[in-house]
Amino acid sequence: MRLLLIEDELKVADVIVRGLRAERFAVDVAHDGITGWQMASTVEYDLIILDLMLPGLSGTEVLKRLQRAGSSAAVLVLTARDSIGDKVTQFEAGADDYLTKPFAYAELIVRIKALLRRPPTSHTYIVRVGDLELDRLTQKVRRAGRRIDLTAKEYALLEYLAANAGRVLTRTMIMEHVWDESFEGLTNIVDVYVRHLRAKVDEAHETKLIRTVRGAGYCLTDEADP
Ligand code: CA
Repeated sequence: MRLLLIEDELKVADVIVRGLRAERFAVDVAHDGITGWQMASTVEYDLIILDLMLPGLSGTEVLKRLQRAGSSAAVLVLTARDSIGDKVTQFEAGADDYLTKPFAYAELIVRIKALLRRPPTSHTYIVRVGDLELDRLTQKVRRAGRRIDLTAKEYALLEYLAANAGRVLTRTMIMEHVWDESFEGLTNIVDVYVRHLRAKVDEAHETKLIRTVRGAGYCLTDEADP
């Protein structure tokens, strides 16, 4: 799951981002409306947490643009305002939920999880590839009925591969989706994590689900020859 937070108050943004990363979400942050809109229109996010009072471009305007662009991201609006009129306006503009500042952090997490679980979205939350099963809500992974314990990043990588089962994903695509923009490091990080995943997911099984596509990237599939 990849989230975008558009929030200009640096301290608030920092607390939210650290909390969300601890919950295993990949989170990008924008501190003004213009940057936020640019990011939201170039990356496919599962959910956008949007402050209303923003420099550059207001949250309401970002919301309208997302609607016009046919964005499938769920939108949770954050605001200091608490009038009924504003709520109506935001929902009409396409917000999926609304949280008034100041809010308890736990409440934010509950709302986010509820939104991510909510149909209709393009995602179903149980993903199966062969005998591999991922539950995107509980983040539990099983293969042939046996539980596999993964770290947060291993899980995020496997979820991305599974959500795109049968498709070849390049290292760049994987980097962009699984490692958020806070990550600057080794370019072979994807290969390192694929090795970890293989040890946990494939090693004990005859059918290897994680395939290397030479010169291209990786593919998760249970087909004999992708
Ligand atoms: Ca603000």
